Parts: sequence; structure tokens; C-alpha cells
Amino acid sequence: MLAQEKHHSAYNAWETALAQLDAVAARMGLDPGIHQILSHCKRQLIVCFPVKMDDGQIKVFTGYRVQHNMARGPAKGGLRFHPDVNLDEVKALAFWMTMKCAVVGIPYGGAKGGVICNPKQLSRNELERLTRRFAFEISILIGPERDIPAPDVYTNPQVMGWIMDTYSMSKGYSVPGVVTGKPMSIGGSEGRSEATGRGCVFVIQEAAAVVGMELKGAEVVVQGFGNAGSVAAYLLHDLGARIRAVSDSRGAIVAEDEAGLDPRKLLSYKKEHESVLGFVGTRAIRNEELLCLPCDVLIPAALENQITEEIAHGVRARIVAEAANGPTTREADKILYDKGILVLPDILANAGGVTVSYFEWVQDLQSFFWNEGQINEKLRAIMTRAFNSVHGIHQEWQTDMRTAAYILAIQRVAEATKIRGIFP
Ligand code: GLU
Repeated sequence: MLAQEKHHSAYNAWETALAQLDAVAARMGLDPGIHQILSHCKRQLIVCFPVKMDDGQIKVFTGYRVQHNMARGPAKGGLRFHPDVNLDEVKALAFWMTMKCAVVGIPYGGAKGGVICNPKQLSRNELERLTRRFAFEISILIGPERDIPAPDVYTNPQVMGWIMDTYSMSKGYSVPGVVTGKPMSIGGSEGRSEATGRGCVFVIQEAAAVVGMELKGAEVVVQGFGNAGSVAAYLLHDLGARIRAVSDSRGAIVAEDEAGLDPRKLLSYKKEHESVLGFVGTRAIRNEELLCLPCDVLIPAALENQITEEIAHGVRARIVAEAANGPTTREADKILYDKGILVLPDILANAGGVTVSYFEWVQDLQSFFWNEGQINEKLRAIMTRAFNSVHGIHQEWQTDMRTAAYILAIQRVAEATKIRGIFP
């Protein structure tokens, strides 16, 4: 087992989420009723379903769809296909989606789903059958007005396309708005695949301006070279930053040369070799070393609980921008804050993905599409506005950016809950 995976499984993400909520609730004097509501997930669906494998055998898989809260709108959140998926992780991720959508002010509640599987070990046909059967199993919950899935770890536009088709088949007509992150040809949006990384870079630009950091020449370290991490890396590279080190699930590499890595070349290398390991002009390092390299911006863009207490002591970044969900443990968070490191929390820093998902859904509902320039401009406006709101609370309340983001989000969910009232 890789060190990276060991950290991931040693913590319970739902406990982390609840501890974050409790601390913020105490700090803001949250109404106990609202606190109780947010401490629970509204709906949790567990499905066990058979899939016919290529060799003719039947294999049963377990999947989840959890809706945390829908006070502000339909539930929204990705689907993760990963061997470590479990109910508590999905609950935490659903909770973070509620908070994330509220931070950026888009009209959604929070949900998440996942299937315990390793898509790297499935053939394309097996993956399609698994996806379609899972989509069918959760179709009792999902729908464009109810709950809208999207990509997450190890799922992609093709998987979203199969979900859209499966749902549409059962309805008898095309329902593009049931899922976001689809391919462009079936109602996907310009800019969606880059949105998480791009949104993260917009927030980093705002943060850099606040701390007086020049991004040109800044040193950047990226943990995780998937959809979010690789895009953040090449967009920062375009702004003149130097990408010093990156990693993926197989290992980490650091550039031998001052100039750093070329992320676009690295991306095509990774496509060919299935890993960043062995890229020219680099040497392999351990995951812990990568996280502790001196740099200006550290971007954890992999899984939860990567920056642990032990690692936090060694982190030497000025800004930590959480492109992943939940990469920092509670203990580590406090250490980073005490060290004066500016942490841009996941529910702000990676909200670009769901923001462009929102644009995709709006375009699908009106069957009228915007160009990439319009999408990126609207994304920048939303990310900048959210950063400024969170930063304002951070200063006003003399607190860390995560607490500030939660205060903003919880105020918004609480207000919606109070205005709607409690049924019946
Ligand atoms: N999975 C992404 C996230 O964690 C995107 C969710 C969405 O677009 O609904 O934010």
C-alpha cells in the first residue's frame, strides 16, 4: 500500500466533517436546531447490484447515493468510483457539497455518491455495465429537479454520458440535465472539464494578491495529477509559476532543474505511461517529502486526509489551496494556521467544478449554450466574489479561512431553512 493511501484510510471523513461543523457552530452560536439538521444526511441509499463480468461471472458491487441537505435547491454532487469508497466518506463528501454550493451561492443542496470498485481493473464494457446498472439503481433519487450527479475521483465525461443515456432510456426521452460533466456532444458545457483546476487558480490569484505574492516565478507543488491537479498546474504555469513537483497514485517526482516541469508535456507523458513517474528531468521522491517541499503554493489535489498532523509540521508553503475534498485533517489544520500558512479550504478552492456544473445544468434546461469565454468569465466572477466574502469574514471574525467559509455557508443554509420553515 502506498503511503498516500495509508493516510487516506486511517481517518474517518464524516467524523472530520462533524468536528468541523461543531467547532463552527460553537463559534457562531448556531441555532441548535439548525446544527442538528446539518449533523444529519437527509437521505442515504445503499445499493448492492450484480454486474456480468467479461468472463461471464457475476460480481456484486456496493454503491451509495447520499443527499445531505436540500434547503437551498436540488441536491448536487459527484460520483466516485474507488476501492476505498464507504458510507461515512460519501456522507462527508455530501456535507461538503452542501457547504460548497452555499459558499459560491449557487442554488443547490449537497449530495454525493460512489461505488466500491477499482475502475483501473475493469474493462470498458464492464465499466459501462456497472455504471448503467448503478445509474438505474439510484434513479429512484436522481433527476434534474431532484439530484444531479457529476464526475468525481475516477469517473469522467464518458461515465456521465452512460448515466444520462440510462436515465433517458427509462423516461423515453433525452434528459441532459440529470447529470453534469457530460461530453459536449450530448449537452455538456464548454470549460467544465477544466473548471475545478481553473476555479482553484482564480482563488489562488486572489489569495496571492492579498498576501503580496507574485505568481510569476512562484514555486508550486501539486499532489495528485488528475483532472483538478493537472489543470491547476498548467494554468499556473501559463501565469509564469514554476511547477516544482507533482505526484499521482503511483508516486511523486521533483524537477531537477530550477525552471520546473512543463505540465502539458507531463500530461501527455502520463497519458502514455499511466503515471508521472520517470518523466525526463525529474527524480522520484516520497509523498511525504513532496508535501513538505519549500514552495509558495501547495495544491493537494488527491484524496482526503493527506496533510496529517505529522506532515503539517513539515509543510513549508505560504499558501495551501485545497483542490481535493478534505485533504487536511483537523489537527493539521490548526498547525498550518498557527504557522501562518494561508489555507484556501476545499469548499472554496475546488468549488469551480460544481459552479460550471451549475452553468451546464442551466444551459441544458434552457437548451441554449454559452461559449468558453462566457463560461470562464462567469466562473471568475463567482470565484472572486466567494473569495472576497470568505476573506471578509476571515478578517472580521479573526479566524482561519475554513471557519470563515463555513460561517458564510451555514448562514446561507440556515437562512433558507428558517424562511422555508419546518414541515409540517
Ligand atoms: N465532484 C466535484 C466536487 O467535489 C463536482 C461536483 C459537481 O459538479 O456536482 O465538487
